[in-house]
Amino acid sequence: MKSIVKVFIICILLSQSIFAIDTKYYQNKFKATKKLYLASILSNNKKNEILYLKQLVKYGKKLNVDTLQYRKELKRLDKTYVFQNHTKSNIKNSIISVKQSNNSIVINFNHKINRSYINFSEKKIARTYTDIFNIKGYFKDAYPTKISIKGVDKIKIFQKNSKILSLILEHKTNLKTIYLINNNQIIIKILNLSTKNKKVIMKKNSTKKRKKKKKNNTNQIKMIKKDILYPSKKTIVIDPGHGGKDSGARYKRKRLEKDIVLKISKYLKDELQRKGFKVFLTRTRDKYIKLPNRTKYANKKHADIFISVHANAARKNRANKAHGVESYFLSPARSARAKRIAALENKGDMSGMGWSSKNSLLTILNRAKITAANKMAIDIQKNMLYTLRKQYGKKNIRDGGVREGPFWVLVGAQMPSVLIEVGYISHPKEGYRISTKRYQKLIAKGIANGIESYFLKN
Ligand SMILES: [Zn+2]
Repeated sequence: MKSIVKVFIICILLSQSIFAIDTKYYQNKFKATKKLYLASILSNNKKNEILYLKQLVKYGKKLNVDTLQYRKELKRLDKTYVFQNHTKSNIKNSIISVKQSNNSIVINFNHKINRSYINFSEKKIARTYTDIFNIKGYFKDAYPTKISIKGVDKIKIFQKNSKILSLILEHKTNLKTIYLINNNQIIIKILNLSTKNKKVIMKKNSTKKRKKKKKNNTNQIKMIKKDILYPSKKTIVIDPGHGGKDSGARYKRKRLEKDIVLKISKYLKDELQRKGFKVFLTRTRDKYIKLPNRTKYANKKHADIFISVHANAARKNRANKAHGVESYFLSPARSARAKRIAALENKGDMSGMGWSSKNSLLTILNRAKITAANKMAIDIQKNMLYTLRKQYGKKNIRDGGVREGPFWVLVGAQMPSVLIEVGYISHPKEGYRISTKRYQKLIAKGIANGIESYFLKN
């Protein structure tokens, strides 16, 4: 008997360890392929992109990880690719349950979700306020599920289509609802149901606000709700480019990019803190930091956005001509110009592909994030130009535009990230200007205003 148990245990251990070795093997393969894939994106090598995507799907399947993103991308690149919906069953019953808990409705998913899974809107028809939550997912028991919360006149739950579960709250007292996302859950909370006092205060507040902003009343309400949900304290990581042994662009030894961008970054931090943001710098002194460590820091701080600050330089024969401010967001190089600037900024310390960043690939694949970064870059660029031109005149500040480029420093960031070129160190006039406190403070103000307006809209 004893020996049978022993053999049995050994068998279990053995099978587990074999499984572990197997998993480890595919994990390594998966990781290595991600890097190769990333490199192929950055070098715009479509053939390799397809090759590595196929491998990623293969290894992903073995590891039982979600490869939907890769397959979508593969389908986009290779029209002959047959899109197999591996996760069909996953999507089909992605919502496990919809339950009530006190004044909240809890929606449980069979996988981790993010903010994009919920879309909120509201309407007022006659005297009834309607809060509409469209939730990405399929819940087979939507129809029989009945939830009632005191104070809410009606709660409707139904599968709008095969991909969207709708949850509609109707109430006459304009209740405040907020939603939270917590791993596999969406929690919709209905506020100010219980105490009468609170209700009065809320009402008072809202009538005040309504008087103030009668015109965009609905917007106002939406923003209040958003604010409650995602606290206004957004975290921003500012990355002053280069540092230490890497001085970046330079002019006659005395004007160094690393010093100028550090000063601007510090002014930017002050400006943003004044606006109520939580701000961190990747370096606060003349110190060398490897590129991947800069975004790693931002990831660790759970930053909402990542801003890398740089100054430009042109080749000697173009030094008198090249000037202006530019904003970049991460994307494969499209133009020769973006490639050249990227090559300059990438020089820092990227020795081949000797770095690893677990989620870098997702950042690239996540088109939503690229779009967000693009939007942010537009806001920053607009506000930088506005602030600088007000001071120096339109002619003197050239709009270098919003561009996309394959910047390594942006690759590892899990959040929308933008690289700013604050001007040309090499230009006789602009080079001098950007080393003055006046310009540095102004551009910092412009960037901060741009960031603020980005967050107000998104
Ligand atoms: Zn630089």
